[in-house]
Amino acid sequence: MSDADDGPEQPVAATPPEELAETQDSGTERAARETPPSIPLRVRNLRKRFGGITAVDGASFEVEAGSVTGLIGPNGAGKSTTFNCITGVHEPDGGAVYFDGEEITGLSPPEIANRGLVRTFQIARELEEMSVLENMMLAPPHQRGEKLVNAVTPGLRDDVIEQEIELREAVWETLELFEIDHLAEEYAGNLSGGQRKLLELARALMADPEMLLLDEPFAGVNPTLEEKLLDRIHDLTEQGYTFLLVEHDMDLIMQNCEHVIVMHQGNVLASGTPAEIRDDERVVEAYLGGEV
Ligand code: ADP
Ligand code: MG
Repeated sequence: MSDADDGPEQPVAATPPEELAETQDSGTERAARETPPSIPLRVRNLRKRFGGITAVDGASFEVEAGSVTGLIGPNGAGKSTTFNCITGVHEPDGGAVYFDGEEITGLSPPEIANRGLVRTFQIARELEEMSVLENMMLAPPHQRGEKLVNAVTPGLRDDVIEQEIELREAVWETLELFEIDHLAEEYAGNLSGGQRKLLELARALMADPEMLLLDEPFAGVNPTLEEKLLDRIHDLTEQGYTFLLVEHDMDLIMQNCEHVIVMHQGNVLASGTPAEIRDDERVVEAYLGGEV
């Protein structure tokens, strides 16, 4: 009775015929063209005020899957506030944030992390008194063994033990990846600034993220460790992770990002490839404009 029974009414292929013919030569080229890059993060018209200061003033941008995208701008441009609004630390006064097509505006940091959008956190005071290994074991939200009911209910106990073993394996693999496995027994409080940054990123990875947001991850990091951190970030994008790096060091961003978003006075001033940004006079002016 319903028209739906008439069989699948396929829409005519949306690809223009000339383009189909053209792509028949190369399967990979066709795949690349027919699958537009997915956009895990969309920020729309974001606004945040602190008293009389408008820190973020209508910022809109997107981040492509599998990219290292840089969010740069002079001091006070609104980068950290944007970062904090995206990750749920601040509630924006206006605008919206979408992750994987769903609105996440105003959710709490753990809720946002559970969806796969994870930020790094500085190693808190109480974690400084624990070993690197303990820091990793406690990294949220992979605390599968913590539920008391699981631990005391017969039959579930084996599961918990198995999960504990899996967690330990994941922890060691991650420590090795960041070349800090030799520091496993060291107190986190005894690490150098750079080693701490490696641990912060390693901890964030334990949350099984899809996308990582890092606010000035290289601050206070020596060049050797900076290189190591950048190598790991590039390795991880090859595995499909997406990064948004907030940085004030323009050169570092230019050398390591496929896409750059420039903020200035709470708004997005420019967005494009490093080459496009480098040639943009407005960007040069913003950086030289005496705000720094
Ligand atoms: P950036 O990270 O680009 O240097 P911020 O986002 O930290 O910039 O700051 C943007 C503006 O908002 C600055 O003028 C800063 O002083 C102000 N600001 C940031 N955080 C707060 C806050 N918690 N309270 C009041 N003002 C703030
Ligand atoms: Mg900042």
